Amino acid sequence: MSNTPPELVIVGAGPVGNWTGVQHLKRAPDAAVTLYERKPVYSRDHGLTIGRESFMQWSDVGPDNVQFLTEIYNAQANCAVAINPERVTAPDLSGLQGGRFETWRALPKLLDIRNLDFERITRNEVCRLGAKVNIEEVASPEEVMDRHPNCSNFVAADGAHSKMRTALWGKDCLIERDIYPSLDFNYASHGQAGYLRVNTYDKLAHVYAENIGIATNGQSSINLRFIVSPEEYNALPEANFRRPLIVTPDAPFWQGLPTSRWYGRNLQQDFYDLMALRAQHAREEPTDDPIRMTKIMLSKYRAKEFATSVMHKGRKVNWYLVGDAAMGMPFYRSINSGLILGSQLAYLLNANWVPEAARTGVYNYYTRPFRVTREFARGAKTEARIVFYKNVCRPLMYKVAQTPAAPLVRVPANVALKHLKLGKTS
Ligand SMILES: Cc1cc2nc3c(=O)[nH]c(=O)nc-3n(C[C@H](O)[C@H](O)[C@H](O)COP(=O)(O)OP(=O)(O)OC[C@H]3O[C@@H](n4cnc5c(N)ncnc54)[C@H](O)[C@@H]3O)c2cc1C
Repeated sequence: MSNTPPELVIVGAGPVGNWTGVQHLKRAPDAAVTLYERKPVYSRDHGLTIGRESFMQWSDVGPDNVQFLTEIYNAQANCAVAINPERVTAPDLSGLQGGRFETWRALPKLLDIRNLDFERITRNEVCRLGAKVNIEEVASPEEVMDRHPNCSNFVAADGAHSKMRTALWGKDCLIERDIYPSLDFNYASHGQAGYLRVNTYDKLAHVYAENIGIATNGQSSINLRFIVSPEEYNALPEANFRRPLIVTPDAPFWQGLPTSRWYGRNLQQDFYDLMALRAQHAREEPTDDPIRMTKIMLSKYRAKEFATSVMHKGRKVNWYLVGDAAMGMPFYRSINSGLILGSQLAYLLNANWVPEAARTGVYNYYTRPFRVTREFARGAKTEARIVFYKNVCRPLMYKVAQTPAAPLVRVPANVALKHLKLGKTS
């Protein structure tokens, strides 16, 4: 006899909530899955980099899945598009039977996709499989448990500031560590801007990452993320997505920023010199729209528990966390981790060999430590590479580049970065 849960309720229909619903419905096509989403239109618009293993680990596979993956890969954008448009072709998945290994082999290692596109495709898929999406904000776990009196499994996929998580576990439920203070500069360029393919270690004092959107309506969005020192970060006034700072050459906030003693340069010089380099080498032609700056503390966090059972009006109800509600990793890993966790949860909820009563325990004491360890180890490795590059290699290369010995140490564009495997960071 199958012990498939008859009902599953997911709070938050972002990419991970949708993905979890898809995975659940692939394993339990008759289940009644309901998602709650507070925003009629998903509002996060940035590039996502997703590794193929994130689609394959613990997920359900089959011919149906090939169609779903084809749609996702057809929407790929960004990085490769901006660098070399002719190299971006969607993989040919036709003829695949949906086997895990053959699908994995047919997929490119990395996919670049806009968050908006990924959310739309996963939303369409979860609806196609029969889920119901209610556009309504859930105020509390009690409210949604009251509305679904027969449901014993609820999933909180409501993002990094998860209300459900706080209500169930309290405010002190996260273990968090700041990694780097950073500043995001966002603006638009006419046409399709590209990625900068010249070295900047001999020109700029800051390490930065570029995220270039695929052009829509004749404009592409540019995101430059600078890693800055704590002094620079603290010298700037508050600036978040809702209230960014508007960047102009004579903006007063530049005045308070220190000059690097090693490089003899400041952030303002670096930002405008980088824009000039991008105009010269990356087909960038900024529009008249304002340049916006936001402060972002890159950090990693995880919830102390990923699942709990609560008594609600005399019945036992299980709550599970997935996606950013469960944990967040910098260096372009969060969505990857979220997808794998969503697939693991769907697998667990449908694993006949795990008794219903043991599922929260398995998710907490088996799934959680493995997922956290895997991601944190990966993150620590990237962090160590960045520290080494930022604090040792780059300053040395900069100094050498100012001496007559410079031609001897000239590094071809991005070679140093490839060795360090810093991905989009330059
Ligand atoms: C600039 C930037 C670049 C990034 N790049 C990458 C990358 O390259 N690779 C990568 O792996 N990750 C990346 N990330 C992280 C990635 O965007 C997130 O990990 C991902 O969006 C998390 O998905 P989610 O569904 O868990 O949460 P979210 O996308 O936050 O979705 C949560 C949803 O829940 C809804 N919601 C919240 N509360 C309620 C409520 N009470 N009731 C109903 N609905 C609610 C919200 O409206 C939202 O739609 C990036 C993030 C940023 C900001």
